[in-house]
Amino acid sequence: SEERSLNFLEQIVEEDIANGVHGGRILTRFPPEPNGYLHIGHAKSICLNFGLAKKYNGQTNLRFDDTNPVTEETEYVDSIKQDIQWLGFQWAGEFYASDYFEQLYGFAVKLIEKGLAYVDDSSAAEIAAMKGTPTEPGKNSPYRDRSVEENLQLFADMRAGKFPDGAKVLRAKLDMAAPNMHLRDPLMYRIKHAHHHRTGDAWCIYPMYDFAHGQSDSIEQITHSICTLEFVPHRPLYDWFIEKLEIFPSRQYEFARLALNYTVTSKRKLLQLVNEKHVNGWDDPRMPTLSAYRRRGYTPSSIRTFADRVGVQKRDNLIDVGLLEFCIREELNKTANRVMAVLDPVKLVITNYPEGQTEELQAENNPEDASAGHRKVTFSNTLYIEREDFMENAPKKFFRLSPGLMVRLKYAYIIKCDSFDKDADGNVTTIYCSYLPESHSGSDKSGISVKGTIHWVSAAHAATAEVRLYDRLFKVENPASEEGDFKSYINPDSLHVIPRAYIEPALLDVQPGERFQFLRKGYFAVDPDSTPGKPVFNRTVTLKDTWAK
Ligand code: ATP
Ligand code: MG
Ligand code: MG
Repeated sequence: SEERSLNFLEQIVEEDIANGVHGGRILTRFPPEPNGYLHIGHAKSICLNFGLAKKYNGQTNLRFDDTNPVTEETEYVDSIKQDIQWLGFQWAGEFYASDYFEQLYGFAVKLIEKGLAYVDDSSAAEIAAMKGTPTEPGKNSPYRDRSVEENLQLFADMRAGKFPDGAKVLRAKLDMAAPNMHLRDPLMYRIKHAHHHRTGDAWCIYPMYDFAHGQSDSIEQITHSICTLEFVPHRPLYDWFIEKLEIFPSRQYEFARLALNYTVTSKRKLLQLVNEKHVNGWDDPRMPTLSAYRRRGYTPSSIRTFADRVGVQKRDNLIDVGLLEFCIREELNKTANRVMAVLDPVKLVITNYPEGQTEELQAENNPEDASAGHRKVTFSNTLYIEREDFMENAPKKFFRLSPGLMVRLKYAYIIKCDSFDKDADGNVTTIYCSYLPESHSGSDKSGISVKGTIHWVSAAHAATAEVRLYDRLFKVENPASEEGDFKSYINPDSLHVIPRAYIEPALLDVQPGERFQFLRKGYFAVDPDSTPGKPVFNRTVTLKDTWAK
């Protein structure tokens, strides 16, 4: 990768190594909650955590942050593992916060014994009311001064299932007047009689994020626990628990969440799009999930390059989705073979080319890659071209077909438009041209130069395919920040399906995941919906940034 200066996390790691912190050992973790599919924001976090460890000879754990039984599912666990591996990373250990439930319970008991945690019978509303405001101190709960013995007994009873949901919570005893609201006796455990996807019905009390995350980091001896900026105010609590429990001193560092314009990156919102059928599932190519990008034709390396170019920021900002598109376009330009496909066909007849005669023309697979070789394309007197490459009344700078105008057919000849037919509705049905036999591509002796070159397929030899074109899923740059329901900003024209595009016949043999450049039309990937003889192509990205900004 290209030279760049160290980001602030690399600087911290280099200092730690220089100072011999933990003997120079680096262990990071990626901690997804298995309540949805991974999205492009997670990719940023994965590349950062795994990339940082890799750069400094360290390792990265995968830890499922599965402390909320209600929203978590095994389907999500499996997809998360698949997506991380697809991105090109392998974790050292695979862990589950739920595996630490017994240890976490023990930590809680230790805090109770130290007089640093208590069982509170107040309701959620009462606790909220006693919390105070950022400018006013909160009030102590009437249950705050329970004895250690009583707290131990009540906490054991909570675990034993003696109380209904919401009847009691365990709270840390810090300071109800702390300016940082997170330090005003935060919750550690809540009662939830719910089935957990891994621990089943073994537990009816579950630890809160703040009393699970840092402790899990510590149990695994994570050296650098990297999270996003909203956790800055949680850090004093992260450090307090570790200090009071006298456990391994993991450290938390924060960077800015990745946010892309015209995109939502929140699992909760993406789940709504799926459940309410605004898209056809988590891997619908319009979604910002890794499974959707994969299906759309993005490569893992293009996403890693994107994550690297975005960098590591300490302030939230909106990244242009055009940067992600630039990364895949740049890569596919080097690697994708060129082929011809006509998406919106109109028939073109070359009147002076003998009917029934064919020619095998030499076509270069990839001008950016000499090793990609050549292929043959069949030429004949009847072709399909794009409807937009013809105009009945062309403006001055139109360098394609119109009566009297000339154009080059890619890999073939220069043709001149002589006439055309229209149907009763005024649609052009056939364009008639004559070709210049001495203008053969590569050995042109016609002496004529034309400005335009167009793609085509031979009508008698073409195969057909379904082609799916995508536009951004949202009409506004920052749908999450607009007023009202973010779903009211969905672009109604984000999917355009072409049931019968004409393609070179060799494209009938493609496999899902293969990628091509359709000349002049963009980069396309074969969709898993393809069946033998009926390929389906997704447009990954156009050839140029065509978005109106
Ligand atoms: P979401 O709001 O989409 O549910 P989350 O942060 O709740 O996101 P987690 O499964 O907890 O989702 O995230 C796993 C890791 O990925 C966390 O360390 C989190 O900070 C990181 N992460 C999530 N979203 C982003 C993002 N947009 N940019 C960078 N990192 C992210
Ligand atoms: Mg989270
Ligand atoms: Mg979340």
